[in-house]
Amino acid sequence: MENRLRSLYLLQLVDSNLDELQEMKGDLPQIVDDLTENVKNKQAAKKELEDILKKSILLRDQTDTDILSLKAKIEKYKAQQFQVKTNKQYDMLAREIDLSQEKITKLQRDMETLEGKAVLAKEDAEKLAPELEALQTELASRKKELAAVNKEHEDEELKLKHQREKVVGKISKADYQMYSRIRKAEDGRAIVAVQRKSCGGCFNRVTPQRVLELRKNSALIACERCGRILVSDEIVESVKKTL
Ligand SMILES: [Zn+2]
Repeated sequence: MENRLRSLYLLQLVDSNLDELQEMKGDLPQIVDDLTENVKNKQAAKKELEDILKKSILLRDQTDTDILSLKAKIEKYKAQQFQVKTNKQYDMLAREIDLSQEKITKLQRDMETLEGKAVLAKEDAEKLAPELEALQTELASRKKELAAVNKEHEDEELKLKHQREKVVGKISKADYQMYSRIRKAEDGRAIVAVQRKSCGGCFNRVTPQRVLELRKNSALIACERCGRILVSDEIVESVKKTL
């Protein structure tokens, strides 16, 4: 049991040190993540606008070609009108000319719409470009900052992680789960020392009887208020020596 308590307390110390390192990095990792996501989204939005621009221009050009061929048809009908023999044939051609003219009017409206769409997409893409550039610059500098902080504490972090692996290997799965659960619920601290006869986590008084019990190091004793596992000074001292 003593070893069990020692391992749990050692894990707590290692994790607290890792938490401290994490704190030194501050919001940087989160900022880098957020910026990365933002850049990705803006890049996607820009690409979508550029696609719209390309498609609109392609369609507009196609529509332009269609109008030209309709105009050529109208010229052909007009020429035929001079050669026909009957009024009926003449009227038929006149109807074809009207129909083609209507089609042209509609296509011209389509062209305007496509033109407008293209202009808008181009404007929006151009507006996005400097925003994207600024974000990318900021991301690059934040990444550099984070890399510098990481490098500064690289060795320490590696040592702690290695130590953590070793101690986790000595802890039963059930204890580890319990530890993780309390740690998550109680601000990162699952195993605490008793200080001045109080819980080192929530400062709730520990009864003299429980203090006596604790000193035996023969059971897992939890704080009655916060549920953190309490360890005796003896455990604390012996673990600190090994760290
Ligand atoms: Zn407590």
